[in-house]
Amino acid sequence: MLRAVTKTLITSPISAARTMSHCSLSGKVAIVTASTDGIGFAAAQALGKRGAHVIVSSRRQGNVDKAVSLLRNDNIEVTGTTCNVGNKEERERLVKMAVEQCGGIDILVSNAAVNPFFGNILESTDEVWSKILDVNVKATFLLTKQVVPHMEKRGGGSVVIVSSVAGYQPMQGLGPYSVSKTALLGLTQALAPELAQSNIRVNCVAPGIIKTRFSSALWQNEEATNELMKRISIKRLGTPEDIGGTIAFLCSEDASYITGETITVTGGINCRL
Ligand code: NAP
Repeated sequence: MLRAVTKTLITSPISAARTMSHCSLSGKVAIVTASTDGIGFAAAQALGKRGAHVIVSSRRQGNVDKAVSLLRNDNIEVTGTTCNVGNKEERERLVKMAVEQCGGIDILVSNAAVNPFFGNILESTDEVWSKILDVNVKATFLLTKQVVPHMEKRGGGSVVIVSSVAGYQPMQGLGPYSVSKTALLGLTQALAPELAQSNIRVNCVAPGIIKTRFSSALWQNEEATNELMKRISIKRLGTPEDIGGTIAFLCSEDASYITGETITVTGGINCRL
């Protein structure tokens, strides 16, 4: 049986070419925000391995330099720059750079998020809400709005927004952050029908508990990890690569009929609104 399948693959150039083209993002230019570590870095790596030219960015130049060098070692075509997504001028510079240095934009992965607050929601302040909504929600919308004309020039594109399992069920102590992630589920659905007219797909990924620096307070605490494990069917924490692969799939031709959708990647944590 295995020999027959292998023979078909070797002797059928059409099926082989089809497989290749479905995996391939070559010729595409991808902006991934907050991509010098964790999920963003894994997304850049997954897109780059499929042939996209990736533009990595985050707030600190040292982190950008390190990420660029790691990706180049992986033979990935990459350009790096600093960009704090909460800053209008820096978002504009990022888009300008992609257009001028890479010739256009086909993919946007909006991954950046902050959480400056842990505690009871009634103790959260005006400043906390402004920061969380500005960076997590408004910057995602404004960056999408900025890249749309450039995607239209290329005949279409793909936007992937990174939400969270917390967007479905607010996590204890993370009220404002969780609400911002619920807003991203709505933003995805609000954008998708309008942008479909420009052949731009908009989808969302909601990761579960992924082992990164961002979630270290959870997984470094044994008691919290044991509690979380009770909700996870696949008895391990997620890896950034688990999410990077899903993001690359959503940007690929294999997902050409998917828009306005959120894929939960949680190891089986029950997610519903
Ligand atoms: P991470 O490993 O801590 O990486 C965070 C990255 O974001 C770094 O590259 C950091 O670099 C950059 N960054 C932080 N603030 C930024 C800003 N304002 N503008 C631009 N870049 C910024 O975090 P992660 O776990 O991969 O989280 C990425 C996304 O996944 C977030 O949207 C988060 O909400 C979501 N998520 C994570 C989990 C999880 O369990 N880890 C679960 C669900 C959802 P600099 O310090 O150089 O800026």
